[in-house]
Amino acid sequence: MGAVARMSAMIVDLLFPRGCAGCDRPDAVLCMNCRRLFHQQVERPLPAVAMGRWFACGWYRGAARHAILSWKDHGDEECDGPFCEMLYDLAHSCGLFDTLHDGMSYDKPVLIVPAPSSRQSVRQRGRRHMMQLAGRLARELRRARLSAKVCNALESRGVKRRSVQMRGVAQRSRRLRGHVVVRPGIDLRGVPVVLVDDIITSGTTMRRCVEALQQAGATVVTVLALAYTPAGRPAREEGHSSSAV
Ligand SMILES: [Zn+2]
Repeated sequence: MGAVARMSAMIVDLLFPRGCAGCDRPDAVLCMNCRRLFHQQVERPLPAVAMGRWFACGWYRGAARHAILSWKDHGDEECDGPFCEMLYDLAHSCGLFDTLHDGMSYDKPVLIVPAPSSRQSVRQRGRRHMMQLAGRLARELRRARLSAKVCNALESRGVKRRSVQMRGVAQRSRRLRGHVVVRPGIDLRGVPVVLVDDIITSGTTMRRCVEALQQAGATVVTVLALAYTPAGRPAREEGHSSSAV
C-alpha cells in the first residue's frame, strides 16, 4: 500500500470507525457478546475419526452467522484474529491437545488441513480464508511441543456454489460425490490429520473430506469448525439437543 492509500485508509477509519462484525456495536472487531456465541461448543458423533466426534465453536445463526459472513464473503480480514483464537480455544476445550499428547504417539507431524474451497470462491474472495486459522492452530500445537504444520492437502473439483447456499442434503451429496480429492504428490500414509472448516451444514462435505484423507492413508484425529447449522432445520430446534453433556 502506498503512502497516499495508507493515509486515505487512516482517514476513513477515523471518520467511520468500524463496528462489530456480528452486531455492529461500535469500536470492536468482534464484541464480547458476539465472542461468547463462539464458546458454546457443539459436538456430534463421527465414528470415522480417532476422537469419535467433531466439534464446532457455536451455532451458525444470528450475530455469529453475520460475523462469519463478514469475514468469509465480505473480506473482513480483521476477524482473522478473533476466529483464530476461537478455534484454538475449541481445540483445547474439546481435548485435542490432550489427545495428541497422551493417547497417541504419531511418528509423523500432525497436519492441519483446511476443508477445500472451490476455485471459484477462492477467486471471488481473493484468498483462502481458512489458511489463517489452520496456521494459528499449527503454531499453537508447536508451542505445546507437538510437531504440527499446515497442509493444503485437499482440493474441491467442480463444486459450483457455496455448500451453505445449496438446498437439500441429497442434492448437496450428489454434487460433492467424488469432488473432494487429495492433491497429487501429497503423501498422507500414516499421517495424523486435523481437518478444519468454517461451517458444518449437513456434514456431507466433512465426510467426503474425511473419506478422501483416509483413502490416502491418513489418520483423521477430529474435525474442528467455527459453527454448525443442521441442514434443513432451524438451528433453534437443535439447541436443546446438543450432545455436549
Ligand atoms: Zn457484536
